[in-house]
Amino acid sequence: MDKIIIEARVNELAPRDGNPNVPFLPSEIIRDAKACYDEGASILHYHGRTAEGAPEHAADFYLETNAGVRALCPMLLHPTLGYVANDADALGRFAAVEEMMKDPTTAPDFAPMDVGSVNVDWWNPEEVKFDTTDLIYKNSTGTLMHFAERIRHHGLKQYLVSWNVSSTRQIEAFMQMGVVPEPAYVCFCLTDGIMLAGHPGTPEGLDAHITFLPKDRRIVWTVVNYKGNLLLLAEKIIEAGGHISIGLGDYPFTELGQPTNAEVIAKVVEIARSLGREPATVEETREILAMEKVRVAA
Ligand code: ZN
Repeated sequence: MDKIIIEARVNELAPRDGNPNVPFLPSEIIRDAKACYDEGASILHYHGRTAEGAPEHAADFYLETNAGVRALCPMLLHPTLGYVANDADALGRFAAVEEMMKDPTTAPDFAPMDVGSVNVDWWNPEEVKFDTTDLIYKNSTGTLMHFAERIRHHGLKQYLVSWNVSSTRQIEAFMQMGVVPEPAYVCFCLTDGIMLAGHPGTPEGLDAHITFLPKDRRIVWTVVNYKGNLLLLAEKIIEAGGHISIGLGDYPFTELGQPTNAEVIAKVVEIARSLGREPATVEETREILAMEKVRVAA
């Protein structure tokens, strides 16, 4: 079976009260990235955060972080476009990537396309109420087509996030149109706990995604469990030939104490090896995903 691509999702918008090891600032993310790379992760996904943990969209944050990681290791870079915290238009949401593309030391390797619009309010299961009631993650078809075009223009890889089966149907339509080239890299975003927008982080939630993958298209898939414990599904994913995207950004993993991101990655590698799959190196990840050479503007 193919080697397994492991992506470290180091921070998202996660607070530190569940686990104090969530990195916020560039220096913290750079240190974590190297540690995760050393354990076997080949992709880094991160969000800009202020020292207090608020979302940070300034391009400088991304330039500093990308360059810092590049100086330490060849990990593939997958910065966010800001998720629901960056509610600008399509050009505004992609502006930081355009800045990153001006220099080979700051250029990323992936840019995300979260396919479909979803209500991402925070559910409070203890109090049986919503803590927020107006968080809409809006990704219009026009916005997604703008991202797709810019990502291909720069020679980056589209990182397609599928929240549910309808997202996968739109990805299939984009593939028919030639907007998304093959092999497509699709991340099934399961959600648990305080997040209801994806399929549940259960075997059945994952099976529904796999069942509806178009059979006549080349698709490489990975799995996230946003706000849930993806380790519980790791064996199933690894045996089914999928890949794993995981980290303290999604879940504090207090079942393991107060682990660092690198310790969570090490756990995934241990499970994968026990099932006969080695972690893919950066070069092997590039081959599996048929990644092009990034084109930096002159
Ligand atoms: Zn993210």
